[in-house]
Amino acid sequence: MSERISGKTKLIGLLATPISHSKSPKMHNEAFAKLGLDYAYLAFECGQDQLEDTIKGFKALNIRGYNVSMPNKIAICKYMDKLSPAAEMIGAVNTVVNDNGVLTGHITDGVGYMKSLKDAGIDIIGKKMTLIGAGGAATAISIQAALDGVKEISIFNRKDRFFSVGERTVKDINEKTNCKAQIFDLEDTEKLALEIQDSVILTDASPVGMKPLENLCNISDPSILREDLVVSDIVYIPNKTKLLEMAEARGCKTINGLGMMLWQGAEAFKLWTGEEMPVDYIKELIF
Ligand code: NAD
Repeated sequence: MSERISGKTKLIGLLATPISHSKSPKMHNEAFAKLGLDYAYLAFECGQDQLEDTIKGFKALNIRGYNVSMPNKIAICKYMDKLSPAAEMIGAVNTVVNDNGVLTGHITDGVGYMKSLKDAGIDIIGKKMTLIGAGGAATAISIQAALDGVKEISIFNRKDRFFSVGERTVKDINEKTNCKAQIFDLEDTEKLALEIQDSVILTDASPVGMKPLENLCNISDPSILREDLVVSDIVYIPNKTKLLEMAEARGCKTINGLGMMLWQGAEAFKLWTGEEMPVDYIKELIF
């Protein structure tokens, strides 16, 4: 690394908290080194209290860009000069690009998720998806899936503050795309079983399965998971959540969140550098 840093090295940041577990610094720095790009990626422990000052400081220093993760994805929108169409629709940003002082907020989670499915040979275009969750990641996934041509999306969420977010997402999808979207209470297990029956994929985009919820699973009856159903969990630590263990035991094809992590990063990499991330190399190195 010391050989790579020069007087012209451009900095890319990551603003989130907690952040020390993130694989993004390794992923991007290895990709910069592989392509010989004079950039460095550093993670900064930054919550909403420090966000405004950090953005101003980064702007003053003409930092090329940064990723944003929990809890800043929604809060950062108001500091952007421009939003990409997807970020505008989703109301969240995970990638900022600074073009000579003009900050544009993008969201690459949804594109990253759809690319991870394609990369794994899973085709859901023109088909039906059942999605658990209505938070930032779930919203990005559902809107991108609808924009990409998924025919129907049934969203399930518990009746917490995210349920109304899900209702807004459903309205947006129905008004602005050709996809038919609906939202149901996650506690309605009969409806969940019914909706899964004619779906090609069940996606869990909630933190259930990840610490401290690692012993929980949103599906209580394994028999609703058919052998030809794809079961996807966007959590990647642990590698295999309770849901994926259950799905594997039922003979389903399973996919965890590592691919989404990789492809959302690859999209951001391209926005900052204009270059394609060497994804096969990174996959081998990190996953
Ligand atoms: P968020 O806080 O915006 O949304 C959380 C969602 O989960 C909401 O819909 C909420 O109702 C639901 N939820 C929370 N606790 C629940 C419980 N006990 N039972 C059922 N539902 C519950 O969070 P987010 O940013 O959308 O992230 C969700 C998860 O996705 C996190 O674990 C995050 O690490 C992961 N994630 C992964 C990637 C990736 O690249 N693989 C990207 C983004 C987020």
